[in-house]
Amino acid sequence: MRTTRARKLRFTRKLLAWWARAARDLPWRRTRDPYRVLVSEFMLQQTQVSRVAEYYPRFLERFPNLEALARARPRTVREAWDGLGYYARASNLHALARVVSNDLDGALPDHPAELIKLPGIGPYTAGAVASFAYEKPVPAVDTNVRRVILRVFFGDDRQRPSRERLTRQRFIPTSRIWALADALVPKTGKRAWKFNQAIMELGALICVARKPKCPECPVRPVCRTGKTRRTDA
Ligand code: SF4
Repeated sequence: MRTTRARKLRFTRKLLAWWARAARDLPWRRTRDPYRVLVSEFMLQQTQVSRVAEYYPRFLERFPNLEALARARPRTVREAWDGLGYYARASNLHALARVVSNDLDGALPDHPAELIKLPGIGPYTAGAVASFAYEKPVPAVDTNVRRVILRVFFGDDRQRPSRERLTRQRFIPTSRIWALADALVPKTGKRAWKFNQAIMELGALICVARKPKCPECPVRPVCRTGKTRRTDA
């Protein structure tokens, strides 16, 4: 199905209006410091927001900038990460700090194509850091964003395709989701920043995985899935 420009714009307008009144005040949203944004993104991979909010300030107090982290001993970094789990993230973050400090004069790149070459950074984190630290108009598709895009524009929750769906080749390829996300992101930095934050927030608070809250959803009038759902049950 073709997604018209008017529909994309309507979606973006409704999403941003909702964001303006419903966004959570989270510490990493108050900064554009690349190092601080980077730390938050590493922590948020596989960890709940409430838990990250607890550990984030402590970690930054111990390692206030990228140089401090680069100079630290692996054991110290591991200790500071203690309680967050998935320790590979801590060692990747540490390795990244050392690469940036040694090879890039301490400056974290601002483009996804450069960011993705660094340890522990995949397509989502590359987009997120470019957008949230540097306000670049690039997409950042995580699980929440993917789910929202699938439900709104494809009218089905195909993020977990059944065997039958795969057989029928109805699975929407990742490249198509990214292309649509790219087309949706506003082309001015501040709006791009807001859009990426807002679509993630919608996936985290309203368009949740198990029981999407369609009746209270701000983008329901333009959502192919929501329009056909009578309740949020
Ligand atoms: S209307 Fe429902 S399915 Fe559509 S984006 Fe909102 S919560 Fe998700």
